[in-house]
Amino acid sequence: MQYHGLLEKYGALLNLPSHTRPITLLEGNTPLIPAAHLAHEMGGGFELFIKYEGLNPTGSFKDRGMTAAISEAAGRGVTTVICASTGNTAASAAAYASRAGMKSIVLIPQGKVAAGKLAGAVAYGAQVVQIDGSFDDALTMVVEISKQHPIALVNSINPYRIEGQKTSAFEICDALGHAPEWLCLPVGNAGNITAYWAGFRQYNDLKWTGLPRILGVQAAGAAPLVLGHPVERPETVATAIRIGKPARGEQALEAAEESDGRIIAVSDDEILHMQKILAQREGIWVEPASAAGLAGLAREIAAGSLNPRGKRIVAICTGHGLKDPEIVTRSMERPVVVPPRLDALEEALLGEQRPR
Ligand SMILES: *Cc1c(COP(=O)(O)O)cnc(C)c1O
Repeated sequence: MQYHGLLEKYGALLNLPSHTRPITLLEGNTPLIPAAHLAHEMGGGFELFIKYEGLNPTGSFKDRGMTAAISEAAGRGVTTVICASTGNTAASAAAYASRAGMKSIVLIPQGKVAAGKLAGAVAYGAQVVQIDGSFDDALTMVVEISKQHPIALVNSINPYRIEGQKTSAFEICDALGHAPEWLCLPVGNAGNITAYWAGFRQYNDLKWTGLPRILGVQAAGAAPLVLGHPVERPETVATAIRIGKPARGEQALEAAEESDGRIIAVSDDEILHMQKILAQREGIWVEPASAAGLAGLAREIAAGSLNPRGKRIVAICTGHGLKDPEIVTRSMERPVVVPPRLDALEEALLGEQRPR
C-alpha cells in the first residue's frame, strides 16, 4: 500500500481541527534499526533498537510535528509562520511552509546553529534572523510577536506539533507489537518527550500496547530539569538541546515520573563518544544531540542503575549526522595526500608490510 504521510496514516488519532488541510513530505515511517553491536558493547543481554529519526525529509523528527502544525495553519488561511529554533525546527518549518505556499521567519541564536541546519533554512526559503542571545530569548520574542501580528507560531508550544510527534510512539508499537520496556531520548525544549509519553498512553488505552519507562537525557551544561532550575547560559556541543528554560519542562518531569523513569544529564565527552561508536559500530551517523539518549543509557547501565537484562530498549536518534559536519571534521586528522600512482598508494596503505 502506498504511503501518503503521517496525517493520512494516523490522522484519526491526532487531535487536529476539522479545517486541517494536509501538507506532507511523506515524513515519518522511519526505520527501527536493531543495534546488536552497541548492545553488546553496553554489556549485552538485551535488545536495542535505534529509531532513526534523522531519515525524515528535512533530517530530523521535527517534520512529524511540522506536518501537523503547518497543515492546521494552512487550513485556516495562514500566510506567514514564525519559530525560534536551535536549527532543526527552522529547516522543517521552512520546508513545510514553502510547500504550503507560506512565508516563514526563523529566529536562531547567533553563531550557535550547526551549518547543515542554517543552510537548510536558507535553501527552503526562510527569512532567517539571528538573535544576539540564546534560544530561550528567541522563543520569548516569537511568542510575543505572534500575539501582536497575524503570524502563526510553530514552535512546540503549538499543540499540533505535539499531536504530530505522537506518531513516532505509534510507529514503534506497530513495529514491535507493543511498547518497549525502556525508551531513551534527548531532552531540550521537552516537546518530544511530552509527545512520546502522550502517544504511548493513547496507544495503550486503545490497543493495550503497554507503557515504556522513559529515560530523558540532557547535556550537563544545559540540564535545567536535572538541576531543578533554569540555566542562564546553557552550553553544550549538542546544539539541538542547548536550552536553559524548556517550554514543556513540567510535562517532561511528569512523563519521567509517571512512567517510572527519570531525567539525567551526560557530559559532552560522553555524547561525542557515543556519536562516534554509533557511527563506527552500527553505521548510523547522528548529530551530537541525537546521541545523548544512548549516552545516558550507557551511563545508567554501567552504573548499575538500569538493569537491561532481557529487555527491549528503544533509543530515539533525533537528527542526521549531516546536519553538523563540523563536529567531526574539526577534530579529524587530515587525510594523507598521495601522488596518483599505484606504488604510492600501496606505500601509503601498506607501508613496510607491502609484499615485494
Ligand atoms: C529539537 C531536537 C531535540 C530536542 O527535542 P525537544 O522536543 O526540544 O526536547 C533533540 N535532538 C534534535 C536533533 C532536535 O532537533
